[in-house]
Amino acid sequence: MTSPVNTETTEKLEAWLRYYDDLGVRTFYRDRLAGALAAAKKERGAPAAPRAAAHVPAVSPVLPVIQAPSLFDAAERVEGDTLEGIQAFIGECTRCRLHKQRTTIVFGVGNSKAELVFVGEGPGRDEDAQGIPFVGRAGQLLTQMIEAMGLRRDDVYICNVVKCRPPENRVPERDEIATCSPFLLRQLAVIQPKVIVCLGNVAAQTLLGTHKSISHFRGQWFDYRGSRLIATYHPAYLLRNPNAKGDVWIDLKKVMAVLGLKPRRR
Ligand code: URA
Repeated sequence: MTSPVNTETTEKLEAWLRYYDDLGVRTFYRDRLAGALAAAKKERGAPAAPRAAAHVPAVSPVLPVIQAPSLFDAAERVEGDTLEGIQAFIGECTRCRLHKQRTTIVFGVGNSKAELVFVGEGPGRDEDAQGIPFVGRAGQLLTQMIEAMGLRRDDVYICNVVKCRPPENRVPERDEIATCSPFLLRQLAVIQPKVIVCLGNVAAQTLLGTHKSISHFRGQWFDYRGSRLIATYHPAYLLRNPNAKGDVWIDLKKVMAVLGLKPRRR
């Protein structure tokens, strides 16, 4: 049963949300990471510095983040939501400046019931031209990674934080992310994957609600609204830094262990 204090707090929060909604402010972030890292540290009595990625065990425990759904979570949920409904809702979007130079909105592709979702940053030139995420050079590397896990692209779902290409492939800006990320959150809420793999800083920071660099938490498990979330390097980073491929493979093997996958036989 809800206590009177909770009801009062809830009403106050609802009033604030309505107020911000009237102002057009619709995305709120909570630093999920700070809580999760603190909880993990407490649990294992670890020193203040985060563990170096190389020492993370093969399958690290899921870190508790937030147990109960908050008002903020509820505000982003849409009853009876579907991927088609979200895409229709996005329409020929002009909600942020990214629409001005885009050719195609890149919504997402793959299995709508996928156990595994990859989230990238935003479309590049090839994706903008074709309307499909991860089809350029970085995309080909992602496809190889997926196949090395014993899967096909059709088995997973692939999408991005922003659905329109940022000019010159620049990093999406905060307001662009704030405008577009609610659609990503709705996609994830519809798919409810077992595992979410964040590719790079933008995806990880957006879903974990943190400004910390991925180097602090790459390869660690987080609990994201009922899914397990892990962040690894973006394939575009791997094209520039092939030495980091080993770290990514370590992360993907953790995902495979959770999903019961065997690596593809060569
Ligand atoms: N990089 C991304 O983050 N997403 C894509 O779809 C392609 C490249």
